[in-house]
Amino acid sequence: MNGDLRNSPIWQCVIELHRQGVSLDRVSKALRIPAEEIARAIGTWTGVECKRPKVAKDGTTICPRCAKEAWPVRFGMWIPERDKPAPKAVMAGCVIGPDAPEWACQNDGCGYNWRVDTHSTTGIPDRLALMQLRHEGLSLEDIAELYDVELTAVNAALHDSPGLEHGQ
Ligand SMILES: [Zn+2]
Repeated sequence: MNGDLRNSPIWQCVIELHRQGVSLDRVSKALRIPAEEIARAIGTWTGVECKRPKVAKDGTTICPRCAKEAWPVRFGMWIPERDKPAPKAVMAGCVIGPDAPEWACQNDGCGYNWRVDTHSTTGIPDRLALMQLRHEGLSLEDIAELYDVELTAVNAALHDSPGLEHGQ
């Protein structure tokens, strides 16, 4: 491997795709970078789920990937108290970022982290973001797969402003 992914020009794309909530698998495939390498460079790849999880009485939920137990991610510190059991929660310190996970799977073999964004559209991002992906050498097919949309939708987003029809 030559150098750090974070120093390569594609890194801005990776960051942007992560922010958009595109899954690691898709980004890895489209950019042809091993998922492990991306995950290592970014820290934790936070997934985005658009369904609120059903939370059990003990505050845990079920991982949407592996169906094992997942714990909520809490920010700040937990101070142990006598007669109070430790909560089933992952303490994440004090730094809250916009992409911070809300849930963390406790299955080591899975390790999926995700946040819930019910009005997140996994649809196509704006033209500028698409143009950057094109600039990084992604084909239209790559982009369509990345966002799980039809090729024509990518084309339309890149080349057209909706509602501008000529020659009618
Ligand atoms: Zn899991």
